[in-house]
Amino acid sequence: MRVCVIGAGASGLVAIKELKEEGHDVTCYEQYDKVGGVFYHNNNKGGVSDLTLLTISNYFMAFSSYFPNEEECHYWTHQEYANYLFAFIEHFKLKAHIQHSKRVTSISIVNEKVKVEVLDVKTNKSSERMFDSVCVCSGTHQTPRYPQINGLDKFKGKKYHSAFYKNNQQYVGKNVICIGLGETAADVAHEVSQVANKCVLSIRHRQSIVARYPHGRKLTNDAYSSRILYQLPTALFNNIDRFLNKYRLKGKICDQERMMIEWNLSIPDYINHFLTKNDAFFEDILSGNLQLNESGISHFDEDTVYFKDGQQEQIDTIIFCTGYQDNFNFVKDVEIKDVRRLYKHMVHPELGTKVVFIGWARPALGGAPVCSEMQSRYYAKLLSNKLALPSKHHLQQLIEQQAYYEDQVFRHNMTVRTVVHYQKYMDDFADILKCKPTLGYMLRHPILAYKITFGSHVAFIYRLQGEDKNEKLAKEIISRLPVAWRGYELILLTCARIYSLISKKIPGFKNDPAY
Ligand SMILES: Cc1cc2nc3c(=O)[nH]c(=O)nc-3n(C[C@H](O)[C@H](O)[C@H](O)COP(=O)(O)OP(=O)(O)OC[C@H]3O[C@@H](n4cnc5c(N)ncnc54)[C@H](O)[C@@H]3O)c2cc1C
Repeated sequence: MRVCVIGAGASGLVAIKELKEEGHDVTCYEQYDKVGGVFYHNNNKGGVSDLTLLTISNYFMAFSSYFPNEEECHYWTHQEYANYLFAFIEHFKLKAHIQHSKRVTSISIVNEKVKVEVLDVKTNKSSERMFDSVCVCSGTHQTPRYPQINGLDKFKGKKYHSAFYKNNQQYVGKNVICIGLGETAADVAHEVSQVANKCVLSIRHRQSIVARYPHGRKLTNDAYSSRILYQLPTALFNNIDRFLNKYRLKGKICDQERMMIEWNLSIPDYINHFLTKNDAFFEDILSGNLQLNESGISHFDEDTVYFKDGQQEQIDTIIFCTGYQDNFNFVKDVEIKDVRRLYKHMVHPELGTKVVFIGWARPALGGAPVCSEMQSRYYAKLLSNKLALPSKHHLQQLIEQQAYYEDQVFRHNMTVRTVVHYQKYMDDFADILKCKPTLGYMLRHPILAYKITFGSHVAFIYRLQGEDKNEKLAKEIISRLPVAWRGYELILLTCARIYSLISKKIPGFKNDPAY
């Protein structure tokens, strides 16, 4: 198949690799002069800041087909991750497929083919080309979202969006309000509060927070994301988490951890949120550098913000940490309002495999790039006719089920439509691709089975078996990573899993879709 990939961020790169391995003829258009998407650091575009440290560890950000020569499990800086992507391109010889400074302005279906219109941003000349299929990997973090708040138009100070935040230099001595608390916001509030005269963090509700290195141990937070944990109904997980947190509060812990635990205990259904994997701002609240207002903003006037609880603050700078919106303007044949209404967040029933979307699935805990990798493996095989899409009618039913499930599981973050339940999402693909470790395989490899069940839920698990397996690499990585849970926690989790298997009718859990 002649395939067009739009965008050379992490998703586009893994799509090229998987398509190429299936023997397709791939052309990728990237609007910038370099690859990397949001991880291409450049002061003239949005994306990572000078100090961005990833919120997901290297073993969870790496594609399952390639891991660099390093052992330590840690968080890559944005430059280290960009270097990983460069090495990935080199390793799989992807460079020749990428055309830079080419912006796709329109895609439409014409006579069973897909017409792609491309603008050369250097010469300002447009051209057209026909493809058998187009894979849209244009990213979820490209178009900033600005909130509508009364009086914003009257505000006389400076307004910025965190998408363009590079460092705290321009905020020295300013009176700043940061609006919103996602993962970038936690960094922005932390850095700005170090140098500002005053820094206020405004939120409307609390997000569940995960420490980078929980419990003061040297293990990254995703090391705890094992299969046994994911297999628990979320209601049961919430109860166990509360129990363990209350227990931890009784022990000797530092003020920052105490504050975080108390914060999380104050939130209903801890796990039914997108998890903010960045706890940097707690130390600033404790030190008094950062003021928190949780009531939401009522309105602004020329130099003051008024909160709904009656408080007010004089400010001269606003930083919107209010996330991003999807931009599918260039897709001409359908309107996409909600990515949960795409089969596996990627297939529109009207477009089938003609136009597919890769990169709109992000796990609450875990790397987005490996979800894109699974999508790409599936997509490449659909185009090779090794797999087939369900019928249009069946697709619709599956989409309804998926949207219902995700709306229930992530009921406290209904606006974040990309978020998926990591294991369910990956396992669903693995069942189709026949790359999930079978019971027989686990019985033949008991030590590996222990690591797979209780250890880190890395995507390498899906390279042990199946047509695209890389068993040597997968075994090595899975065996290398430690089991993060302590002995008593493993016993608790195992008992909880057995309980969830035998007590299907117990009220309170029956409405949990993961049950
Ligand atoms: C500051 C920051 C930190 C993050 N940290 C993490 C993290 O630690 N872990 C994690 O999993 N995720 C993280 N994310 C989310 C991150 O966006 C994704 O994981 C990752 O970038 C997804 O890659 P992508 O290729 O889908 O999108 P992008 O990286 O956004 O790449 C999209 C590419 O498409 C190109 N493009 C867009 N439109 C067109 C067009 N019309 N024509 C041609 N090219 C086009 C863009 O130029 C871009 O290069 C972070 C996001 C931000 C902003």
